[in-house]
This record gives sequence, structure tokens and C-alpha cells, in this order.
Amino acid sequence: MTITPQPGIMEIELYQSGASKIEGVTEVVKLSSNENPHGPSKRALDAFRQASGELHLYPSTDHAELREAIGEVQGMDPARITCGVGSDEIISFLCYAFAGPGDEVLYTEHGFSMYRISALAAGATPVVAPETERRTDVDKLLAAVTEHTKLVFIANPNNPTGTMIDEAEVARLADGLPEGCLLVLDGAYAEFVDGFDAGKAVIDARDNVFMTRTFSKIYGLGGLRIGYGYGPQEIIDTLNRVRGPFNLSVPALKAAEMAMRDVGYTEWCRVENARMRDWMTAQLDAMGVAVDPSEANFVLARFEDQAKAESVDAHLKTKGLIVRLVAGYGLPSCLRITVGTEAACKRVVAAIKEVL
Ligand code: PMP
Repeated sequence: MTITPQPGIMEIELYQSGASKIEGVTEVVKLSSNENPHGPSKRALDAFRQASGELHLYPSTDHAELREAIGEVQGMDPARITCGVGSDEIISFLCYAFAGPGDEVLYTEHGFSMYRISALAAGATPVVAPETERRTDVDKLLAAVTEHTKLVFIANPNNPTGTMIDEAEVARLADGLPEGCLLVLDGAYAEFVDGFDAGKAVIDARDNVFMTRTFSKIYGLGGLRIGYGYGPQEIIDTLNRVRGPFNLSVPALKAAEMAMRDVGYTEWCRVENARMRDWMTAQLDAMGVAVDPSEANFVLARFEDQAKAESVDAHLKTKGLIVRLVAGYGLPSCLRITVGTEAACKRVVAAIKEVL
């Protein structure tokens, strides 16, 4: 008997996550997955610990308390929020709900790998539009739209480039899409941008734009897997049909609620990230390493070729520093370096200096 998977499934490349170990090295600093080096808010940790008394109970199915907290802090109507196991799960809900065989899912050249994985898993066809100088290009995206395009994903700021486009460009993209096509703004790194609404104003003025957000980055809860989506009521109502009823655990819900409410800590993380990111960018620049101005919690360092990027990566490993080779994103001569603590950033800069 042959058990045959659905078309598209075997085209999915297995996701390569950032390494967390180096053979023979005990003291490693992981700067390969854009995690918050300072961890989550203390209030979120306390809430997580308290939740251990409720582990025999099923979690809430509607995530009302978490949606209430997100709504208050982000100025969103809680009814127009849905929560998932990381924003990865929201991305896959979108593909399952809105794209199937014969439909196209469009994203940018160096776009996040889950767009392709989720499109293929849903039986849809992934389509890639070129960027310009590692930046989302609205004209090129619009030129790649066909009558089959159902979803368009852009991450703003983008991973792994760190670049972003402004609100007018996002609005132009939304307004250029045909009827029946949804624009998804992936705001995984939105909180790192000072005063940025992640596209909320664009969403609130339209019915064809949606956003995904995560607790894995600035909120420091990647290990708990929580994300959310915000957008038009009909889209939320549709996604809630695809969503498993108990998709988020009791500790995840409690910790995320407190992390969202601890706005002072989030702001501290934003300011500290910007300080070290801008310092690291200036240091790399002074060494002659090309870096695009990043708005996120990582920088993309560009070397002359793949061999150089690999040799810098190998040298960093000997120092216990794990960064990310992003050849899989079509950037073979680049290293993506997460902004770590001040000490970690100084170690990375010193180690790169040694090898150049
Ligand atoms: N979008 C982008 C652009 C990302 O970089 C990531 C994480 N690497 C995600 C979404 C997914 O994050 P999570 O599932 O942890 O929310």
C-alpha cells in the first residue's frame, strides 16, 4: 500500500531553526533566532509560575482575557483579535482558510520561510516577487499579482533584512490589490520600531488588510509559543473556525497577558535594543562591513562573498557565538546577527574585527 501525501507537501523543505549548541564549547551565546536576550517581563514569569496550579484544567477556548489585554494596550477591538501558537500558527490558519489548490500566495524574495511552508501545506502555490536592494518593492509585488492571488504577505520590518516600508507604501499596496485578495502585514518585529502602529491605521480604514503579531520577540516568550492576528471581523470569524479550540495552554495565556500589560518593560526592551543595534551597525560600518539600517532586533551583515561569510561564522563559533547564515533566504554572503546584551554585542564586534 502506498500512502500518498497531498500535492505540494513533499515540496516543503524542513524548517532549519537557529543552532543553539557548538560541539565542544560550553559557554555559548545564541544570536541566531532574534530572541530577546533579556528574557520576558518578571510579571509574565510570575504569572507563568502561578499557572502551574491550574494545569489539570483545560485553557479558555476564546482567550478572552488575553484578547482584552492586547485590546487595551494596542488600542484594538478584542473581538477583532484571534490568538495562535506563535504567529506561525496564524500564518497557517490564513493559508488553510483562504488559499487552496489553484490559488497563489505571494510574498517577497527574502520573505519569512513560513509563508512558503504554509502555502504548500494548504495545497496553494507559493509565488515570490523580487525586492529592490533587500527592500520590499510595492510595484514589483503588484506586478506579480494574478487573478489567482489570494494572500500577499509582507513582513514589516522584514526578516532577515531588517528593512521596512512606510505607511503610504503599505496603503498603496493594499489599494492596488484586486477584490478577493488579502494583504497580511507580518508585524513580528513591529514593537522594535518607535511609535509604529504595525499598520493598524491602514487596516482600520480597509477590509482587505490583516496583521500578525508575536510574543516571541520583544516580549521574550518564544518558548511559550503565542501570537495573535488582528483585522476585519469576517477574517477573524473565519480563522476562528480553523483554529483548534484549546490551541493555547494555560501558562501561555497567563504569561502573555502579563507580558502585554507590562508596557514599561516592553518600552525598556525597545530602547535598549535600539541602543545596541545602532552601536553594532556603526561598529560594523566602521570596519567596512556593509549593513542595511535595521529597524528590528537583528542586523544583516553583508560580506564580499559566501566564503567570507562562512569563515566569519566559523570564527564566531570558535568564540562561542552563534549567528545565522542566511543562504536559505537567498542571501549567501550575509550573516544575520541578533542584537544581544551589551556584553554579547561587544564580543561579536571584537570577534569580527579579528577575522577581517
Ligand atoms: N514572522 C517573522 C517575520 C518571523 O521572523 C518569525 C519568527 N522567526 C515569525 C513570523 C514567527 O514567529 P512566532 O511563530 O514565534 O510568532
